[in-house]
Amino acid sequence: MSELHISKTIFDTIRAHGEETYPHECCGVLLGHPTANGWRIEAAMRADNRRTDSAHNRYLIAPVELVKIQRQAHQQGLDIAGFYHSHPDHPAQWSTTDFAEAHWIGCSYVITEVAGGKAQVTNSFLLAGTTEEDKRFDTETISVTD
Ligand SMILES: [Zn+2]
Repeated sequence: MSELHISKTIFDTIRAHGEETYPHECCGVLLGHPTANGWRIEAAMRADNRRTDSAHNRYLIAPVELVKIQRQAHQQGLDIAGFYHSHPDHPAQWSTTDFAEAHWIGCSYVITEVAGGKAQVTNSFLLAGTTEEDKRFDTETISVTD
């Protein structure tokens, strides 16, 4: 089973981001290094939720912003390891939209439920498979370290 290795500081930061943007979704990019059994997260980059039609249950990171983040990551010797977003007043489970819009196979997708403005459960899903046709989300363990 895949495991997401993340420091308590970064873990708390992405959860706090969800509380801050409540009742809208927050979103961001996770940078890190690959390990034998999952990503080790070294940084979380906030992104603006560009979804204006339905910001409470959708998120969208502008491609130009993503390219900029990717360039910064490479300069620091890091890779894009995944993405995070929040689910205001909804469980920390991926939606059909989340799945349809997930294209980074091999990356981790982290979702935090924010209920009444307070961060609740955080889950991580690895986008497994090889193509758009056989991709799937596998639940992974989140290992929070000091
Ligand atoms: Zn979602």
